[in-house]
Amino acid sequence: MSGPIVRFAPSPTGLIHIGNARTALLNALFARKHGGTFLLRLDDTDRARSEERFAEAIKRDLAWLGISPGRIETQSSRIGRYEAALAKLREQGRAYACYETEEELDRKRKRQLGRGLPPVYDRAALRLSEAERVKLEAEGRKPYWRFKLDHRVVKWDDLVRGEIAIDTASLSDPVVCRADGTWLYSLASVVDDIDMNVTHVIRGEDHITNTAAQLDMFVTLSGEEPIFAHHNLLTLPGGEGLSKRFGSLSLQSLREAGHEALAIAAAAVLTGTSLAVEPVESLDALAEKIDFKKISHGPARFDPADLDGLTAKTLHAAPYAAVAGRLEELGIGGGEKFWLAVRGNLSRFNDAKEWWDVISSPLESKTADNDRDFLKLAETLLPAEPWGDKIWDEWLAAIKPAANRKGRELFHPLRIALTGRENGPELRALLPLIGRARAVARLRGETG
Ligand code: GLU
Repeated sequence: MSGPIVRFAPSPTGLIHIGNARTALLNALFARKHGGTFLLRLDDTDRARSEERFAEAIKRDLAWLGISPGRIETQSSRIGRYEAALAKLREQGRAYACYETEEELDRKRKRQLGRGLPPVYDRAALRLSEAERVKLEAEGRKPYWRFKLDHRVVKWDDLVRGEIAIDTASLSDPVVCRADGTWLYSLASVVDDIDMNVTHVIRGEDHITNTAAQLDMFVTLSGEEPIFAHHNLLTLPGGEGLSKRFGSLSLQSLREAGHEALAIAAAAVLTGTSLAVEPVESLDALAEKIDFKKISHGPARFDPADLDGLTAKTLHAAPYAAVAGRLEELGIGGGEKFWLAVRGNLSRFNDAKEWWDVISSPLESKTADNDRDFLKLAETLLPAEPWGDKIWDEWLAAIKPAANRKGRELFHPLRIALTGRENGPELRALLPLIGRARAVARLRGETG
């Protein structure tokens, strides 16, 4: 048996943000965990607003998160399939032409609201006579198309929210194709999901009402229904949606701000669940944690300020193998020893470069005059190479009795001389990386 087939279906009309990453990851990691397939479907039927550069940005952002789609589809290349589906629906009496303009529809809605009625489309177009239709078309009106809902209570067992029941009589018949010929995702999405054998539709809870209408379309067109999972949406602490802070919370901005992809993934997926929002070692580990039943039914509030801590903690726990390539790209040597020495001091990955410079580039001496004799003594006690793992302890054991210093008086001048910094990674780990020749030069206050 083949695994589940899921899809992430953004419109390439802008950059995607951490809230979209939640949807993308819930899909991709579900597929990963169950040996399934993850599709990226670009919902690009809105020709005016869809742009290639956004499609490229979405692919780049997903790659940054560590997600590679098994296949990429674009709705704009599947228009023929939507036309065929509409033709089939018309034959079945399940799609009908309408002629109202946006303004007319708006007036209708206002009238209904004024009378205290829900602004549901009144199906006036279904009552047009042939003569009226001909007249409207003669006036130059082009039809737009609606799907005729089968008024009934649609029920499904949502993987996140349990049983959901919606009476479609309370909904407007969804528009599936505009008068200018553009297709709406309402029908296009269903046609795609059927053609692509999508087994699970995992998306935000803002689509719950659409699902009721789309389930009716699924049954009409294919006789089958996928499984649905509607997750809560990420919001800011005050409850506002992410659009307000959109710029800074786009994946591109978060990447440019130096955040770790794995930290962003953990925040995107674990926020608003009964699980702790904590760093994960890998996407596989994150996939293991996902359980739709643990996703809360309320909003997934998160504070963008927490991302700094999550990025730092992710770095502090990152194994060398996970970062070796990135260290090389930054021209950082020192291998695993270097990484294990400095990772606990990083707020951002690029901070590693600073520590590599501290280890390997000439340093300006910041030694205080009254520490010079102490450092001279320390230099004479520095063991000859080759150095073993315990070199720091051996050296200190020699310095302590000879210098009669301890605590800060002992360590601080050594740290200043060897690193030029007040704080930093343990000297025990740094000294072997600095090496004897450079250590001697630095103890002498020479640039080295
Ligand atoms: N393009 C739609 C959206 O981004 C797709 C929704 C879906 O997952 O079916 O809202």
